[in-house]
Amino acid sequence: MIEFRSVSKTFVQGRSSVTALDGIDLTVAENEMFGVVGESGSGKSTLLRLINRLEAPTAGTVLVDGEDQGALSSRQQRRRRQRIGMVFQQFNLLANSTVLQNVTLPLRLQGARGRDTALQMLEFVRMAGHQGTHPARLSGGEKQRVAIARALVTRPRILLCDEPTSALDSGHTEEVMAVLQDVRREFSTTIVLVSHELDVVKASCDRAAVLEGGRLAALTDVTPPPPRERTGTYAERAAEHLS
Ligand code: ADP
Ligand code: MG
Repeated sequence: MIEFRSVSKTFVQGRSSVTALDGIDLTVAENEMFGVVGESGSGKSTLLRLINRLEAPTAGTVLVDGEDQGALSSRQQRRRRQRIGMVFQQFNLLANSTVLQNVTLPLRLQGARGRDTALQMLEFVRMAGHQGTHPARLSGGEKQRVAIARALVTRPRILLCDEPTSALDSGHTEEVMAVLQDVRREFSTTIVLVSHELDVVKASCDRAAVLEGGRLAALTDVTPPPPRERTGTYAERAAEHLS
C-alpha cells in the first residue's frame, strides 16, 4: 500500500543542512494500523509528509498503491492527496467556522456541498448534535473527533495521524483512539499513526517503526497489552487500583 525505498530527506537552509530521514526502507500494508515512534526531531512528521507528498524525498522513492509519487503530474498528485486524509496534534480547525462548516470544507473545496456526508461523519465520530457549535466550545477530544470527521469526508483510503492524542488527557486519548479503530474497521482505512506516546501505539498498532536521528532503528510487531479490567464505577476502580 505504502512503500519507502531507500528514502532520504535533507533540508537545506542557507549553508547548513539537516538530514531528517536517512535511507528508510519500509512497507505499510493495506488496512494496517502502523505506528511511527521516536523522540522529537527523529523525523516522524517528515516521514508522514512524504506519504502525501507535502515533501518530496531528496533520494529514494515513495510508492502509494505501487505508484511512484514523484512520477505523477501535479494534477495527479493533487488528486492523490485528496485520497489521503491527515489529522494533527493541534486539530487545525477553523475557529470562526461551525463544526459542520469545518467538516464540509474539504468537499466545498472540491465544489461539492457535502452536508449529508458531513453529518454522517459527525455521527460516526460520536459528535452528532454538535454541528452548529464553534470549536472553542469543544473539549480537546471533541475537537480531534471533528478533525477526524473532516479528514474522512473525502473517503480517503489512507489516514495520516501526526501526534493525534498528544494534546489530550488519557480519557480523551482513549475516545480518539477508539474512533480511529472504528474508522479502520468500518472504512478499511490504512492508518499511519505518529506518536511519541508508546502506550498509545502499543494499544492500537499492528506494527511500528522506531526512528532515531532519521534512521530506522527498529521495525517491530506490536504485542497488545493485556485487556484492562473495566468493571465498576470510576470511584470503585480508583479505590481498587490505589489500595
Ligand atoms: P519529529 O516529527 O520526529 O519531531 P521532524 O520530521 O519534524 O521530526 O523533523 C526532523 C528533523 O528535520 C528536525 O531536525 C527538524 O528540525 C528538521 N526539519 C523538519 N522540517 C524542516 C523544514 N521544513 N526545514 C528545515 N528543517 C526541517
Ligand atoms: Mg513531529
